[in-house]
Amino acid sequence: MQTTRFVLEQQEIPTHWYNVVADLPNPPSPPLGPDGNMVSPEQMLAIFPGPLLEQEMSGERWIPIPEAVREIYRLWRPSPLIRALRLEQALGTPAKLYYKNEGVSPAGSHKPNTAVPQAFYNHQVGIRRLTTETGAGQWGSSMAFAGQMFGIDVRVFMVKVSYEQKPSRRSMMQAWGAEVFPSPSNLTQAGREALAKHPDSEGSLGLAISEAVEEAAGRPDTNYCLGSVLNHVLLHQTIIGLEAKKQFKLAGDWPDVIFGPCGGGSSFGGIALPFLADKAAGKTPNLRLVAVEPTSCPTLTKGAYAYDYGDASGYTPIMKMYTLGHDFMPPGIHAGGLRYHGDSPLVSQLVHEGLMEAIAVPQVATFEAGVLFAKAEGIIPAPESCHAIRAAIDEALRCKATGEPKTILFNLTGHGHFDMASYDRYFSGKLEDFDYPAEAIQESLAHLPKV
Ligand SMILES: *Cc1c(COP(=O)(O)O)cnc(C)c1O
Repeated sequence: MQTTRFVLEQQEIPTHWYNVVADLPNPPSPPLGPDGNMVSPEQMLAIFPGPLLEQEMSGERWIPIPEAVREIYRLWRPSPLIRALRLEQALGTPAKLYYKNEGVSPAGSHKPNTAVPQAFYNHQVGIRRLTTETGAGQWGSSMAFAGQMFGIDVRVFMVKVSYEQKPSRRSMMQAWGAEVFPSPSNLTQAGREALAKHPDSEGSLGLAISEAVEEAAGRPDTNYCLGSVLNHVLLHQTIIGLEAKKQFKLAGDWPDVIFGPCGGGSSFGGIALPFLADKAAGKTPNLRLVAVEPTSCPTLTKGAYAYDYGDASGYTPIMKMYTLGHDFMPPGIHAGGLRYHGDSPLVSQLVHEGLMEAIAVPQVATFEAGVLFAKAEGIIPAPESCHAIRAAIDEALRCKATGEPKTILFNLTGHGHFDMASYDRYFSGKLEDFDYPAEAIQESLAHLPKV
């Protein structure tokens, strides 16, 4: 019987995260205040702990993973690397398909990889409370779990429409001891103003960020946590690619192309950046690293590379990234984790400089790929992960046409057990494809901050 599961011992959980900033061909553009000046450390220290800010700006190649963090990681890490042999056979492709299964974490996605160290560093500097926002609940549940590990109280502002429609994720957060409020709430100025204008507001991620940041900025015992986009988040996620490299050595194989779904870019950076180090050093010059996004929110493929705000209300520093404009209204597609107007500045820079690529895929085809994968491999993937699966299957079918036996890796960022309502819509034929119209993108790009 052929080996299809490549597992590492707990002792082999990496001891350091990889910081790609040390190997970038050009230095990254710094975040700026809305006035175009550098952001002061004091402003950032009001909401983030010192050690995370240091990581955010660090140029060191290897950053040690605290032992306390590795001890929590071992609850589910190292995550398995699986050869999708049955999917290969179903497709009749000469390509070899592998996936890294991040769905095995307690919260069911890659997000605890950064939630745990974020809770740890906050605990280390004496923070007792954390605030954060969540859309569909994936990040909120990861933060609730991580806070519980270090005895920190977590308050989650959950976009109201999800709070009402996705009660299971809310209950998960409560099981891990977090407080969950629908946003807009009357707990903050931003929330009260929104409610005064629109009493029936369904909320938005941008508004929930404003509420969480406002509360953290106003209380010395409270900090704020972000689940994607920032450099330190990508840094923590490199554990995915670092493990995958060890596992490919076990398999006696190496990827030719890597696909990952891309919303804010943290899981894609996490799997791809450790491999990029070899590509940048000229060891694997032909390796392709491909971010996969929805055609309805085509940040890397149709956006502008420019300075923009991280949130909808213009509350955060501005960052140089691919963006559709901070007031871009993503349509209600089912891959909630991919509905973000911007992208990680690191991933953006690498796409801009041609070291990484990006493609966009339509929604219905992603569910079709997810179901094909579930039928062959058993695991029901998160709608976000289905984007990478679509791209991997398309590549495998191209290999079938050309006869090339390529090795393809994709990131299975999460399982879809809380997303079955979206699968239901797919099965009943109610899902639609949505290409975001070029005029609407131009319209929101007209509102970029002028620097
Ligand atoms: C949040 C999420 C994503 C997208 O976020 P990134 O920061 O781009 O990784 C992808 N897949 C799953 C399962 C998620 O929960």
